[in-house]
Amino acid sequence: MEGKVRIGFYALTSCYGCQLQLAMMDEILQLLPKAEIVCWFMLERDSYEDEPVDIAFIEGSVSTEEEVELVKRIRENAKIVVAVGSCAVHGGVQSWEKDKSLEELWKTVYGDGKVKFEPKMAEPVENYIKVDHRIYGCPPEKKDFLYALGTFLVGSWPEDIDYPVCVECRLKGHPCILIEKGEPCLGPITRAGCDARCPGFGVACIGCRGAIGYDVAWFDSLARTFKEKGISKEDILQRMKMFNAHNPKLEEMVEKIFQGVEE
Ligand code: SF4
Ligand code: SF4
Ligand code: SF4
Repeated sequence: MEGKVRIGFYALTSCYGCQLQLAMMDEILQLLPKAEIVCWFMLERDSYEDEPVDIAFIEGSVSTEEEVELVKRIRENAKIVVAVGSCAVHGGVQSWEKDKSLEELWKTVYGDGKVKFEPKMAEPVENYIKVDHRIYGCPPEKKDFLYALGTFLVGSWPEDIDYPVCVECRLKGHPCILIEKGEPCLGPITRAGCDARCPGFGVACIGCRGAIGYDVAWFDSLARTFKEKGISKEDILQRMKMFNAHNPKLEEMVEKIFQGVEE
């Protein structure tokens, strides 16, 4: 990319945790001579949402009609669109119960409360516009952001991670929560990149980085342990829905685990 790279950070419905994670990176300061931050309301009041940018980072899920229009405008104005975090990539925890009606969910949370905008079920950004790259996690790892940004700045393209959290967990030498305690750790079917943070603290992975594709060699052998440990299909499905409710292959994937592989 020639000259100063124009960057925009945009927030949809979210907890702002991804932006905060990025805003706390000292490395952002090193970026300033090479980049112009056109839009980032968390850091700069004079931000411009409808300006052309080279790279658009979008945080949050599309949860209002206004946000549908906003993501379309961002796409029109950006050369590269990056979905940042589980909300933008997968719809986030706010889309967990996507099979229930918006009215029912609204009533449960807000009672008879009214808002000025028109709310809708939370959805991933990709349901509305083409996304060029995804940065996973809730919130994402700083290194993933730096890697993506760094590769874009040198005119290259970041690679996606195609192995599960278990790989990092084994490399770190953590005890296996699934095998040793029989807890429903989602590490075998979750995209790596967090250095198996939760198992490192003795906590089973809840899949915040989203499900990895299941057409990989070790999926069957690792995932079948759920079955051997007596963990139910419903339990795994419920846990996976937390961050994967919009995954079109979710049920198929869980079904595959529980129907087993060839014995
Ligand atoms: S992905 Fe997680 S940290 Fe980021 S905005 Fe959504 S809820 Fe917050
Ligand atoms: S199942 Fe969980 S605890 Fe066991 S190796 Fe995989 S990530 Fe680690
Ligand atoms: S171990 Fe699982 S839940 Fe924990 S940070 Fe990694 S992907 Fe997210």
